[in-house]
Amino acid sequence: MKTVVIGGNFAGLTAALELKRKGKKEQEVVVIDKSTAFLFIPSLIWVPFGRREIKDISFRKDELLRKKGVEFINAEAIKVVPAENLVVTSKGEVNYDQLVIATGPKVKYDVAPGIKEYAHYIGTPKGAMETRKALEKFKKDPGPVVIGATQNAGCMGAAYEFLFNVEKWLREQKIREKVDLYWITPETFLGHFGIDGITGGETMLKSFMKMFHIHYRTEVGVKEVFKDRVELTTGEILPSKFTMLMPPFVGVDFVTNSPALHATEAGYIPVTNGYRHVDHPNIWAAGIAVDVKLPFKPGKIPFSGPKTGYPSDETGKIVAENIIRLSRGNTKLKEKAWGKIPGICVMDAGKKEVIILSDTLFKPRKFAVMIPNVLYDFSKVLFEKYFMWKTKRGLSYLP
Ligand SMILES: Cc1cc2nc3c(=O)[nH]c(=O)nc-3n(C[C@H](O)[C@H](O)[C@H](O)COP(=O)(O)OP(=O)(O)OC[C@H]3O[C@@H](n4cnc5c(N)ncnc54)[C@H](O)[C@@H]3O)c2cc1C
Repeated sequence: MKTVVIGGNFAGLTAALELKRKGKKEQEVVVIDKSTAFLFIPSLIWVPFGRREIKDISFRKDELLRKKGVEFINAEAIKVVPAENLVVTSKGEVNYDQLVIATGPKVKYDVAPGIKEYAHYIGTPKGAMETRKALEKFKKDPGPVVIGATQNAGCMGAAYEFLFNVEKWLREQKIREKVDLYWITPETFLGHFGIDGITGGETMLKSFMKMFHIHYRTEVGVKEVFKDRVELTTGEILPSKFTMLMPPFVGVDFVTNSPALHATEAGYIPVTNGYRHVDHPNIWAAGIAVDVKLPFKPGKIPFSGPKTGYPSDETGKIVAENIIRLSRGNTKLKEKAWGKIPGICVMDAGKKEVIILSDTLFKPRKFAVMIPNVLYDFSKVLFEKYFMWKTKRGLSYLP
């Protein structure tokens, strides 16, 4: 049985390693990725402050995969032709018996004019390094700052983390009193996070905003970004010398170039709770590529739900398990809806942190807690070290 995995970062790397570990010789596994580097994306928020270099949070995954018996093709997947079990890539065509799509997101910078030109984005190595340069320049001539998430965004957590890191950095640079700091978000309330909040979360975030003198606007979208200001959908104009925004994520071009995948308007793959394509039994999706239905009623300004690292890895594991089961003639598949996966997340709040734990990501939940730690961000640092340690060794079965 030959399984081709497209995209090999969180979900895809886990799926490929688990397939090989469980399937051994009976499974031929091929990963196609345009990048040879594994990147621990959650630590990108520290790159702009020089707390991490890109090399600290990445490693050569092609070498790891080959060592584990997985073939690696360094190419961009262009489209899939399910009728022929064929993937077209920038380096030729590849056939498959089973296909796993784990291509993550494409950033929709054009959600409002001026974002690409004037707002910074920390979610890519290039964006994080450019943000570092911009902050160095800003330090010499400080002024108002706007940080936030745009309409339709779903990855609010990372933007909150960056906000509190900037606030801390401004104090460390001794320029805090020269800066009016604004947080803007489409969320209906602070700490909604696209999961309808966590008990106590809104109160905690409100007290952080008060304690650190951060102005905030909820239920706002971005109309346009200019070099020196951000215009909101409410008509309000916020002056800004430095702007960082989290735009929405959509599916990558490979998905939208493949009409037979029947992707949603946003470019996500419709799957069952076993992460199998609803129309193609030998196509699977894992991680951000999966279509997840919104767990809440949207407010005035649309926004989306988060697709974080833990469920991305979990869906990679479920897909690997199901392909193995089918290849051994077992048609009873493992199923776990995205929203039923436990919520496990550490939000860095600028050398302090909030640990978020819940039995399920989406409501109804039996328990959900936010545990603040104002002493330091030990848990986030530990989590990074642990994740890099286990991933570099290919220990994909560990949580
Ligand atoms: C700034 C930031 C901070 C975050 N912080 C956290 C956090 O603290 N905790 C948390 O749980 N989550 C966090 N997340 C979310 C987390 O990064 C994602 O959940 C995770 O990366 C999703 O994994 P994935 O495998 O689906 O996609 P990705 O990790 O994006 O991987 C996609 C892979 O597919 C490859 N690819 C894409 N298109 C193609 C193609 N056409 N051909 C070949 N290869 C392709 C890419 O090169 C990449 O290797 C954060 C995200 C951001 C942006």
